[in-house]
Amino acid sequence: MTVVLHAMSALLLLAPATAVPPGAATDPAGALRPVAYEVKLSSDATGARWDGRERIILRNPGPAPVDAVWLRLWGNGVDGCAATPDVSVSAFEGGTADAPEVGCTAVRVRLNRSLKPGRTTDVAFALTIRVPERADRFGRVGAYNFLGNALPVPAIGDDLPPYVSNGESFQSLTSSFLVSLDHPAAMAVPATGTVLGETRHGGRVTTRIAAPLVRDFAWAAGPFGSVGGRTTTGVRLRTWYTDGVTPDTARAVQADVARTLEFGAREYGPYPYPEMDTVIGGFDGFQGMEYPNFVLTEPSSLPAVHETAHQWWYALVGNDEYRHPWLDEALAQYTTDKLLGTPDYCAQAPFWFDPGMRIDAGMDYYATHPDFYAPGIYGDGACMFLALETLIGPDTVRTALQHYLSANRFGIAEPSTLRAAFQAVTPIDLTPFWDQWRNTAD
Ligand SMILES: [Zn+2]
Repeated sequence: MTVVLHAMSALLLLAPATAVPPGAATDPAGALRPVAYEVKLSSDATGARWDGRERIILRNPGPAPVDAVWLRLWGNGVDGCAATPDVSVSAFEGGTADAPEVGCTAVRVRLNRSLKPGRTTDVAFALTIRVPERADRFGRVGAYNFLGNALPVPAIGDDLPPYVSNGESFQSLTSSFLVSLDHPAAMAVPATGTVLGETRHGGRVTTRIAAPLVRDFAWAAGPFGSVGGRTTTGVRLRTWYTDGVTPDTARAVQADVARTLEFGAREYGPYPYPEMDTVIGGFDGFQGMEYPNFVLTEPSSLPAVHETAHQWWYALVGNDEYRHPWLDEALAQYTTDKLLGTPDYCAQAPFWFDPGMRIDAGMDYYATHPDFYAPGIYGDGACMFLALETLIGPDTVRTALQHYLSANRFGIAEPSTLRAAFQAVTPIDLTPFWDQWRNTAD
């Protein structure tokens, strides 16, 4: 048993019944589970540099002893092993770090002692984050910093896919975060989770944030404007915008987020968090990005609805976004189409531009065929679920998705899990349907 910081104990007390997420049963075997994170970071005057320390409590679910854990430093995905990396870790406790691998996005930490099944340990390290000048999910535009995938998270076992810019490679287990951000008082820090308290000291503020039962933690930092609200289901909405966005536009985007949260809760199952933060900015090259309780979006309905739909499909029901990008993307886009209308092109779908193009293709294919990614995963993928409604009925599709959510929320789902959820609710043999939509891989 290792020492658990007092603050970390407080975090575990926040959700005592759910300190081990109920979806843990569906997590991959053999991977150390991050039970909780404690992060303390302090920014410079611009919010573009953060220094501090991260501690991760890890539990071995068994069945065998584990000697090492891989940390993913996804913030290095674009710039790789630069002379001054965007994300660097040092001064480890609880283990010893090897040299970074996979383009400096992975660091193997050899634990000081082999961790037996059922036992817990913690690993801590100094962390420096330098936000690169780039309109991206991890990037800085003007005075605004976006810190998506900036915090190191444990890999699931030895699975180490490379970073991809045109989609996602991410996969992490549900945990609980206690994060302390020390920053200039004039800077807002919208984030995953809920603010526990703010302490002013001089011209700075320490914002303490708790985020139980989430698989990742993202934040932004800058002189954002903000509007607020609440969904009819009781979720507090905090919506933040850059200086290129008007308050009226922010309210319109917030209304899109609200109706998506209300739709998802009604159709699939509850959004089990008290708050949702939306950060609106102009992003070249990507329209939005999803994180638990937190989305980045351009000021328009399509990305706002799509990224919010990911709260069910990825944030709650996780998946391997590198091997199975369709699992969350196609479901998020299907949910978007349900709210914004069926695209005309679905009448002619599926579209195959290449023999290797498949709905079930991984990012290894789509990274080398980037032009096919959107039509394949978002286009064909969403049209597939709409076609399934025609085949087995929309009520049956909804029932299957409710079962899929309740059985897999806080866990990790596989393609076979989702296909089985549909087959379980219809007497129609769906095998020819999945063949037609090139969606048969495990
Ligand atoms: Zn998406």
